[in-house]
Amino acid sequence: MSQPDVYLIILDEHARGDVMESTFHVDQGHFNEALSRLGLSLAEQATANYSMTYASIPSLLDGTYLMEAGDRLTPTQELNLYLMAAGSNQSVAWFRSRGYRYVHFEGSLSTQCGRQVDDCRRFPTYDETMSVLWSQTPIGGVIDRLLGPFPTKGALDQLDGLQQLASTEREVPRFVFAHVLLPHAPLYLDERCRIRVAKELGGRTVSGPMHEDAMPARLKAYSEQVECVDAKVIGIIEALPPTSVVVIVSDHGPTTTGQLWITRDRWTADQIEERLSVLAAARLPRDCPKLPEDVSLVNVMRIVTACLDDQQIQQLPERRYLVPWGTKDPSGAVRVPSSSEIGRLPYP
Ligand SMILES: [Zn+2]
Repeated sequence: MSQPDVYLIILDEHARGDVMESTFHVDQGHFNEALSRLGLSLAEQATANYSMTYASIPSLLDGTYLMEAGDRLTPTQELNLYLMAAGSNQSVAWFRSRGYRYVHFEGSLSTQCGRQVDDCRRFPTYDETMSVLWSQTPIGGVIDRLLGPFPTKGALDQLDGLQQLASTEREVPRFVFAHVLLPHAPLYLDERCRIRVAKELGGRTVSGPMHEDAMPARLKAYSEQVECVDAKVIGIIEALPPTSVVVIVSDHGPTTTGQLWITRDRWTADQIEERLSVLAAARLPRDCPKLPEDVSLVNVMRIVTACLDDQQIQQLPERRYLVPWGTKDPSGAVRVPSSSEIGRLPYP
C-alpha cells in the first residue's frame, strides 16, 4: 500500500474544548462533530508540555523533552530550538528517510524554513493589501510601530495555501508541517474571517496588559477568531484524500487573566491549566489506536510515526513546564504537576 500523506497543523494558542466552554462560553460541539465526521478523534484532555511556542513546537516535532526544571533559555539553547523547529528534528528525519517530501508552512520567526525543507511556504512579512488597509486607519501606523509586521493576513494566507495544497495531486508522499499563527492574538478576524482592525482588538495575548473593561469584547473576539479558524481547518480536511493522516493541535492555550505579565511561580492552578490545555485531534490509519484521551504533545508524533511503521509505541511519561519568556528572563523553567497529578500535588 502506498504511504499516506501526513498533515501536522498547529493552530497557535487554540484553547481546548472545555476551556472554550468555561472561559469563553462557547460550545465547540459543532467543530467536534465535523472533525468526527471526517474521521478524526479528539483527545479531550490533551496537554502541552511547555507553555511557550519556542519550546512546545520543537518538542512536539522531536518527540523529546528539551528543557527541564531550572533550565534558562540561553542564546545557545534558543538557537538549538530554532533549528529544530526549522526542520532538524526526529519527525522530519523519519519522514524524509522514508521518501516523504517535506513541505513547511512558516508561522512566525520561531518556525522558519531550515535546510531540510523540500518545499518552503514562506510567511509573508510584508503584504501590500494589508498595508493599504492599514494606512487608511488612524491607528494603522501605531499598530505597525508597536507590533511590527502585520500577522493576521499572512496567517490567513497560510490557511488558504494549505487548502490549495490539500486538493493537488502528488507523486511522492508528503509530510506537511504548518505552524498557523491563529487564533493567536491580535483578534482582528470575525467569525467569517473578515478582517476588522481596531485598537481594542490588538496586542499579542488575549488578555495583555489591558484594562478590565476591554476583556468581555476581547473574549468574544477571540471566540469569533476561533470560529473562523475552525471553519478553515474543516475546509482543509474536507479537501484532503480520506486516506491522508491529519493531526490538528495547538502548541499551548490562551492567557485570559494576564498570566504572561506575572512571574511564573505565582500562576494559579487555573492560570496554568488554561495555558497548558491544548486542542489535539487526529485521523490515523485504520489499524492505529486513537490518541489517548490525555495525550501530551511530546507523544503525538511518536504515536503517529510508530503506527505508520507498525512498531510498538514508546510513549514518554508526561512532564509539564512553564518556561521563560525569552533569553532576557533570568529565571529558569518551572515544573508544574502533570495532568494526572492535578489535585494531588500542590502547584509551586
Ligand atoms: Zn504559540
